[in-house]
Parts: sequence; structure tokens; C-alpha cells
Amino acid sequence: MATAQRLCVDLDRDAQEITRFTRFCVAGPPGACTIYVGAIGDDGYGRFWLGRRPGPAVVRAQRFAYAAVHGEIAERVVAMHECDNPLCVAVGRGHVVAGTQADNLAHMAGKHRGGGSGLGRGSTGLDREARRARAHALRAAVLDGWNSERVREALGISMPGQDSLFTWPPIGTPQ
Ligand SMILES: [Zn+2]
Repeated sequence: MATAQRLCVDLDRDAQEITRFTRFCVAGPPGACTIYVGAIGDDGYGRFWLGRRPGPAVVRAQRFAYAAVHGEIAERVVAMHECDNPLCVAVGRGHVVAGTQADNLAHMAGKHRGGGSGLGRGSTGLDREARRARAHALRAAVLDGWNSERVREALGISMPGQDSLFTWPPIGTPQ
């Protein structure tokens, strides 16, 4: 993926953007992911429309979430998912954290070898289409509010028989 633009989010100046973004966020129980229920891109990641001129018209949802919490995210910084759930917008250890592209690739390689205990364990082994399908299922599962049962079902769709691999809520994700 091409490097994203630097993104600044100011709590006062961009209050309306933040309010709009928050409406797309469904929080789970403490320690769990917060799931973005806005638009989903072909890659399975959330998309948030900014329409800024000048500036990014549309950004990945986790990138906006990170910038909203920290004030900005620099051009070369990747908002990566330690929980391996592409729709997660919970900023903090165990979920959306800042990293380099190298960090992100190393993390994904580690996941692929079976490490980690997050919500989406193993999802990086999925192809793009399967990841997108899983993201849509996950979004549908929480559209009426958080429902752990339905979240589990959604996550199982792409990985039949592997539901028992998931720990719920994820272990080791203090904020
Ligand atoms: Zn998460």
C-alpha cells in the first residue's frame, strides 16, 4: 500500500468530524475491539470520508482514530492492528498502535506463524477477498449494537472449525 498522508485531527477544529466518526464506532466489553461500522474498502479496512481540501478526502478508519487520540499521525507512520482485526478502531496497546511499515510486516508475519491472542488471530493468512468478506460479516454483526455471540459467528465464517482458537475477550490487552 502506498504511504498515507500525514493526518492531523484537532479536537476543537475537527469536532464535527470526530462526532460523525464516533457514530460509526461500536465498542465491545472492556479490553475488546471497537468495531467500525462505516464504509469498508476492498481491502477489508474501514474507510472514513473527510473531504478535506486540501488534505485527504478519505482515510482508513484506524488512521483517523489514531490521529483523533494523539492529535496527528505522520506520513510514514502506520496505524497497525495488534489485534489483527482490520475494522478495529480502539486506540491503544493490543489494538491500534503506531508502527513503521517494517513493524507492520513483522507483526503480520508473526501472526501468520500462529502468534498472538487477539480477536482476529490468523486472519492475515486470509486472502484479500476473504478478509473483506469477514469485515462485512463483522460489521453486520454489530450494527444493532455489540453482540459477542454474533461477533464470534462472524469471525468463524472465514475460518470454519477454528472458532476455538479465539479467546474472548482478548487476553493481555490492557489499555
Ligand atoms: Zn482491536
